[in-house]
Amino acid sequence: MGTFALTGGATGIGAELKRQLLAGGHQVISVDIREGDIIADLSSPEGRQAAIDGVRELAPDGLDGFIPCAGLPPVARPLSLIASVNYFAVVATVEGLKDLVAKKRGTVLLVASNSAPMVPAADAFVQLCLGGDEDAALAEIAQRDGHTAYAGSKRAVSVWMRRNVVPYAKLGVRLNAVAPGITQTPLSEQVMSDAELGPAMKEFGAMVPWGGTARPDQIANVMRFLLSPEADFVCGSVVFVDGGSDAMLRPDEF
Ligand code: NAD
Repeated sequence: MGTFALTGGATGIGAELKRQLLAGGHQVISVDIREGDIIADLSSPEGRQAAIDGVRELAPDGLDGFIPCAGLPPVARPLSLIASVNYFAVVATVEGLKDLVAKKRGTVLLVASNSAPMVPAADAFVQLCLGGDEDAALAEIAQRDGHTAYAGSKRAVSVWMRRNVVPYAKLGVRLNAVAPGITQTPLSEQVMSDAELGPAMKEFGAMVPWGGTARPDQIANVMRFLLSPEADFVCGSVVFVDGGSDAMLRPDEF
């Protein structure tokens, strides 16, 4: 059985993936700000380092998979927190643990979003994220809006993954991302109850071709497959699990 580490394992999609992996007999190391094997605030460089050090201590022989799942919704404030947790913490923890994953020729599975393509890759915030200058990216996003912070950070995570497929494969790490649509978790509940973003999100949910919103297990099922040996040749893919909403919005792009 394998050894996996994930962030954001306290609630929602991360908690469901953790449950499924444990049920499959795997060891799971959970990092979260609230509860888990390692308590760390991933918005800060110190918290990210604590997460990396903690995982290294608990999995000295390597990881079969690492899933940086922790994320904040577009309604989180200040906006800089969204950029720090959804993008910079993801890159920092993946970079800090990649050798541990390579030891087992394992997988890093990022968590993007079906909203990622809604912000162009050329957007200034996305570019500043990809450039790796956290201070500049946080200064830029402070002048923007929650949608750009959220979808832009997910766009940056997706592009970062694609750009790093070759060096990571050489190292012995398979990189992929899952892009969930609206999923019934505390994160989406916060957005649904927001006076500004809630009505638009409900309207979008009603348009999803396959109908409605996802249960966390519908996302975790696919994540568990992508982490498994059955998905051994899936590399560099952004897998949309969104009831067809991305195809509805961008039928000619893939
Ligand atoms: P959630 O709020 O249930 O879970 C997020 C987890 O991240 C929580 O356990 C929380 O404690 C943790 N977390 C938040 N800030 C943290 C910090 N600073 N340090 C450490 N941990 C922190 O949300 P979810 O919907 O399960 O989201 C999981 C992932 O899926 C996120 O990356 C999210 O962006 C993504 N996603 C969710 C949806 C959706 O509709 N729910 C859609 C697309 C993508």
